[in-house]
Amino acid sequence: MADDAEAGSTGRSKYRRVVLKISGESFTHPGERGIAMDEVVQIAEQTQRAAQHGTEIAIVVGGGNILRGAHFTSGSSSIQEATAHYMGMLATVMNGLALQDALESLGCATRLSTAIRMDGIAEPYIRRRARRHLEKGRIVILAAGTGSPFVTTDTAATQRALELEADILLKATRVDGVYSDDPEKNPHAVLYSELNYQEVQQQNLRVMDSTAIAQSMEHDLPILVFNYRKPGNIDKAVRGEKVGTLVCSNKKVAKV
Ligand code: UDP
Repeated sequence: MADDAEAGSTGRSKYRRVVLKISGESFTHPGERGIAMDEVVQIAEQTQRAAQHGTEIAIVVGGGNILRGAHFTSGSSSIQEATAHYMGMLATVMNGLALQDALESLGCATRLSTAIRMDGIAEPYIRRRARRHLEKGRIVILAAGTGSPFVTTDTAATQRALELEADILLKATRVDGVYSDDPEKNPHAVLYSELNYQEVQQQNLRVMDSTAIAQSMEHDLPILVFNYRKPGNIDKAVRGEKVGTLVCSNKKVAKV
């Protein structure tokens, strides 16, 4: 990824508070597993720049670069599915630790908060405490998902965005937004700039898992799906500039 120092323009963000969802695959090189600190530092640098505009940022980290519960159990009867999901949640904590150090090496104040208690390395997630950190300008990294098995960190991100009263959920991906079809397989796939929740559900579009979409729809939480690898895009997304695909109810399209 190129340096994005010049890509982000100045000006205040239109959002007071956002939740940024970063998938585990972002923590490593394309096609690889594990953690690549150069990739983590790129995310941290973009986040640091975005935070300079005064928006409060909470980051929900995924763990797919290390382990996904559903994949891990497939074909094996010697591990219970719930156990594998807990392992997946622990994977997100490793990513959270890496991101915390990357952000702090850039001078950002952070807190790592986990939905499963790990007192030696992180504080337990307590909604009021997380809000207080955000109000003080700290970047709060939320790891271990919801703390419960059988869901993904997309659902955790939606849950946290709602309870922390974020203005929007920003989903960082490696594609430019939501397409009508897989753009790598179908050259005629269309990139949407805006969608409502019903369109996502009816067309079975790959935005977030279905639980997360249903919950976002129920509570009218806007979701922006964008390509974090394009220089300056995290900054733009946090400031509310036009980038990626916005998913929201029709009435919010006019407002957001
Ligand atoms: N997970 C879970 N409960 C949660 C969040 C995550 O059980 O609330 C488990 C689940 O097995 C998931 C894994 O942790 O596959 C890693 O999270 P996820 O797949 O969402 O990571 P990402 O795809 O964002 O990298």
